Amino acid sequence: MDKHSSIIRSNSAELYDAHVLKNYGRPAITLVKGSGTQVWDDEGKSYLDFTSGIAVSALGHCHPTWVEAVRKQAGELIHTSNLFRHPNQGELAKRLVGYAGPGRLFFCNSGAEANEALIKLARLHGMQKSGGKEGICYKVICANQAFHGRTFGGMSATPQEKIQHGFRPMTPGFVFADLNNLASFEALVDDQTAAIMVESIQGEGGIRPCSNEFLVGLRELCTRKNILLLLDEVQCGIGRTGKFYAFEYAGITPDAIGMAKGLGGGFPIGAVWIGEKAAELFHPGQHGTTFGGTPLACAAALAVLNVIEQENLISHVAKTSGPWIAKLQGLAHEFPAQIKAVRGKGFLVGIEMASDPAAYISALREHGLLAPSAGGNVVRLLPPLNVSTQELERSIEILRLVLAAKA
Ligand SMILES: *Cc1c(COP(=O)(O)O)cnc(C)c1O
Repeated sequence: MDKHSSIIRSNSAELYDAHVLKNYGRPAITLVKGSGTQVWDDEGKSYLDFTSGIAVSALGHCHPTWVEAVRKQAGELIHTSNLFRHPNQGELAKRLVGYAGPGRLFFCNSGAEANEALIKLARLHGMQKSGGKEGICYKVICANQAFHGRTFGGMSATPQEKIQHGFRPMTPGFVFADLNNLASFEALVDDQTAAIMVESIQGEGGIRPCSNEFLVGLRELCTRKNILLLLDEVQCGIGRTGKFYAFEYAGITPDAIGMAKGLGGGFPIGAVWIGEKAAELFHPGQHGTTFGGTPLACAAALAVLNVIEQENLISHVAKTSGPWIAKLQGLAHEFPAQIKAVRGKGFLVGIEMASDPAAYISALREHGLLAPSAGGNVVRLLPPLNVSTQELERSIEILRLVLAAKA
């Protein structure tokens, strides 16, 4: 039987309308199948998927190595809670230490949870700085236009009206400076400052990369003032930019890293790497999670790392993204009235439109290209790490078609 012949029409629209919380505005399609960079809806229409589940499906959909690893683990051992060891978590921690450097790993289930752990780490570091006293040194400096998640900690670190409105008061202790403006960060540092937390490349905020000089400057500032440098690599990490971590471009090492999205290749898993300097701050009982780092989740993440390494996907991203981004820049020159800028690195790219991107997003979808938006009128492009050059070329053709139709 053909792999894709089981596509059937679903009644999802009615079921969502009747029973699912109305916290998302979704387009009127229902996805039922995926393979590589392609997904199919319940009417049999196929799409080039440059959403990748918001940078999650790093290997595209249903990569055979990943599917086999998850199938196998599901038949062996799925969950132990963190009350017992299992082989996969230790192995995954070792592999991530290999990428980040000496330190320790904590596993959770999402980006927001990873950042919660970073924020709790900041509080512990502040307490240590104040000789074991709580509530003295606890502030975290974050960036304007940041996005760190939807929990109270993450939301409080996310200075956006659309995220915070309706939910105040926020968690105290967060202050905000301008990205890529070292002086504005330094001006906020005082005795109460425990940490600085930024995304190496802001994702939801509109694909705004930290410059290398800025990250180097933050590293120096944090070391000099004994404050932690926490990098949120939830969206930009795990190979997406053509390095394993986006901050590698700056040649620095942070004190801790938050990861999630691409790590599980579609299976929910988050992780925090904490460098040696701060890794001993957490003691038994101070943090935990029932689900974090299950045998199944870690098997999925190990499969992602194995495929990234076996298929040389990081160098694939580094090699193929440059010419593709150059073509996107070409489109910006062709359609200057519609495109204001193209930003990003590797396969984390934003096209800043001159107007609301919603009409572009739906036109792209009608032409068979799925792409999400981002803040500041941005059309975001997040192909899987193993996208082919033909598929990248196809995305340029579809974009040109849509731009020409609106010119
Ligand atoms: C998506 C995202 C988060 C939140 O991750 P969830 O898994 O949705 O909780 C946090 N930080 C950044 C940079 C993100 O892109």
